[in-house]
Amino acid sequence: MPQNLILLLQAFVALLGAYFLIFWVALVLWTARDVRRRSRDVLVQILAVLLVLFFHLAGLLLYWVLRPAETLAESYERSLEEEALLQGLEERQACPNCKQQVQPDFILCPNCQTQIKRRCPACDHPLHLRWEVCPYCGQSVAPPAAEAADLAVVSAATPPDLAEAAEPATGPATPPVLVEASAAPAE
Ligand SMILES: [Zn+2]
Ligand SMILES: [Zn+2]
Repeated sequence: MPQNLILLLQAFVALLGAYFLIFWVALVLWTARDVRRRSRDVLVQILAVLLVLFFHLAGLLLYWVLRPAETLAESYERSLEEEALLQGLEERQACPNCKQQVQPDFILCPNCQTQIKRRCPACDHPLHLRWEVCPYCGQSVAPPAAEAADLAVVSAATPPDLAEAAEPATGPATPPVLVEASAAPAE
């Protein structure tokens, strides 16, 4: 009877040991796979595996705390999303004059009638004012006359202060020198 008990105990211990070993190997493998999805740094990968290899569950806990929060795929996806968002912002542009939101194919601002774009003379696509060639059909477009005209209007509207400043210069210009000159040679 005691012989049987010892055998049973031995079997139990062996089973426990095997379970422990398999569990350990599984933990190490899982860590190796997980860290490879989160970091390209070989040193970090080796350190993570060693941590779990030597400290078992405690090592795994430490790894859980210290591992990069995002997998590489997740961070790549996030960067793609951010880029798309930025592009969307760029496309949803505002009128340079009144900051009203305008559609990308608007020629004029509907709020203040500022010219935002012009049409390609060949294919009729809306083009940025600064573009010198149409990206849709390759037609070279003359530099915009509209911008130059705007500048001329602005400079023509400014000079009233200059006119005011010039006025008082005409007053005390007549010299009293002539009287003295005619009085001196009397004899
Ligand atoms: Zn506007
Ligand atoms: Zn064109």
